[in-house]
This record gives sequence, C-alpha cells and structure tokens, in this order.
Amino acid sequence: AKRNGKDQCVIYHEEMESYAYNYIDKIQQIRYGIENQEFRVYYQPIIDAEKTILSGVEALVRWYHPYDGPISPGQFIPEAEQSGQIVQIEKWVVEEVFQQCQKWTEKEEMPTYVSINLSAKGLIEKNINQFLENLLSKYPIDPGSIEFEITETALLDQIDQTLKTLHDLKKQGFRLALDDFGTGYSSLNYLNRLPIDRIKLDKCFINTVEEQEKDRMMVEAIIQLSHKMGLKVVAEGVETESQQKALKNLKCDFMQGYYYGKPQPFNNWETYLTQWSFCLQS
Ligand code: C2E
Ligand code: CA
Ligand code: CA
Ligand code: CA
Repeated sequence: AKRNGKDQCVIYHEEMESYAYNYIDKIQQIRYGIENQEFRVYYQPIIDAEKTILSGVEALVRWYHPYDGPISPGQFIPEAEQSGQIVQIEKWVVEEVFQQCQKWTEKEEMPTYVSINLSAKGLIEKNINQFLENLLSKYPIDPGSIEFEITETALLDQIDQTLKTLHDLKKQGFRLALDDFGTGYSSLNYLNRLPIDRIKLDKCFINTVEEQEKDRMMVEAIIQLSHKMGLKVVAEGVETESQQKALKNLKCDFMQGYYYGKPQPFNNWETYLTQWSFCLQS
C-alpha cells in the first residue's frame, strides 16, 4: 500500500472491512430473524377516493429484532434482496397474510383487496405459482381479493420469465398492481405489456401535486391514460387534506398515506373499523 496517504489508506480499509462486516452480520441477523420468527406484518389502509371508505390494505413487513426492533424494511430489504433471503421473507409474509385473510373472511371483515409486495427475486422464484396454489388449498380465500405489487425494476432482468409468472398469477385469479409508478424510466411502455389492474403513483408526484402546475398536469395525464387503458390508479403517500382534494379532483381512484392512517399491526385494526365505514366484499 502507498505510504503517503497512510491515514487515508487505513480509513479506506476500515470502511471496506466494516461494510463487508456489516453486510455479513446483517444477513446472519436476518437468518436468525427468519428462524426465530421475528417478522411481523403491518397493514396500511387504502381508501376509495370517491366513496371515502376503506377499500383495501397493503401488507408491509416489519422486523421485531430482539434488540433493535421494530426495524423498517428499508433497513433490511436491500440486503435481503442481495442475499436472496427476501424470497423466504416474502413467502412468510404471503402465508401470514393468507392466514389473516381467512380470519377476516370468517368474521366478514375482509377488505376488498389486500396488497402484498413481491420482489424481482420472488417473481422469478421457481414454482412461485405452485407455492401460491398450495397456500390457497390450505387457506381457502378468494384469490381475487389478493393483489401483488411489483415494481418496474423487478421487470428489468429476466423479462420473459417475469412476464410468464405475471400471466400465471392472473390465471390463478390474483390481481396485480405496478408499484412506485413514475420512478422507473420507461413506465409508459410497460402499461400496455403488463397484465396489471392498478398502478400506484409514487409519492414523489403526490408531494407537489397541489402546488406545481406541471406536476398536476402530469398526474392528470397519467390518470387519464390509465383510465383509457382500463387501469385504476392508487396515489401513494397522501399526507395532507389539500393533496387529497387535488387528487380527488383529478379523478384518482384510490388513496393511501399517513393522512388516512399509518401501517399498523393487526391489533389496532379495530381502530380502523370504527374510523371508516367498512367496505365489505360482496
Ligand atoms: P412501498 O411498497 O412503496 O410501500 C409504501 C411505503 O411508504 C411504506 O414504507 C409506507 O409505510 C410508506 N408510506 C405510506 N404512506 C406514507 C406517507 O403518507 N408518507 C410517507 N412518507 N410514507 C408513507 P415501509 O413500510 O417502510 O416500506 C418500505 C418499502 O419496503 C415498501 O415500499 C416496499 O417496497 C418494501 N416492502 C415492505 N414490505 C415488503 C414485503 O413484504 N416484501 C417486499 N418485497 N418488500 C416490502
Ligand atoms: Ca408497495
Ligand atoms: Ca410504492
Ligand atoms: Ca417503494
């Protein structure tokens, strides 16, 4: 190693080591987390914009680490995706949600849709459709009330395999949504090619929709185009009343965000039930 930058060299080295150490430590921790069943599913309400009633929920995973938990997905999903552990976590989430849906159905409290995030790795996982078929026999719920959210980035590699899985999911009766719409780069291309039912407009559009004329026009155009293609639009990250009003004026179909409610564990579900007149499945 060069001597002239000794300090620099040492710092660089330590950083590299600590990065590798952190990553290895993290994936080991995640492994324990999976073995010890430290993950929980939170649910965030999705509101029907026109009727202003609770329409569905999105399932969002949390890690109840014994010392550091609850940890939000941003702090372990990237590592879990890199290591492939995401597939195990997702399978656990899906089963947990199906089980929960069975309970909701029995109590006649089933929301219209329950959305579950699926990563790129989850989508190309062999036998994912068979895995879901088996779960449907174990938990007899209506697949039409389950929506899988996929991102554009999940479509970038292995597009053929991914498209086949998506079409198979539709054949199984599940619904599909394109998540984080507007953060990728060829969004409009995909709308035609994908067997999706809804798009989820990313929060970045929503932040400024009521202030910036250009953003408002963009959102309006996306909503109109989506409607022409038979797609419904969900706005993500709605935080204020004025955002909610602006989106409603633009004919956005569904809203999700802290304005309506944060993701909550199932225990707090009763709160939502009393807060929103519940949209029961017909
Ligand atoms: P996402 O799918 O885009 O989920 C929406 C995120 O926005 C959630 O963060 C949610 O808590 C947050 N959010 C909702 N409303 C608001 C709001 O009004 N303002 C702001 N600032 N944020 C809001 P969360 O729960 O931390 O999840 C982050 C990401 O982690 C998710 O983004 C999703 O990509 C991923 N994720 C979560 N659970 C799962 C899972 O089970 N499987 C996979 N593959 N990914 C998951
Ligand atoms: Ca999502
Ligand atoms: Ca999203
Ligand atoms: Ca996201």
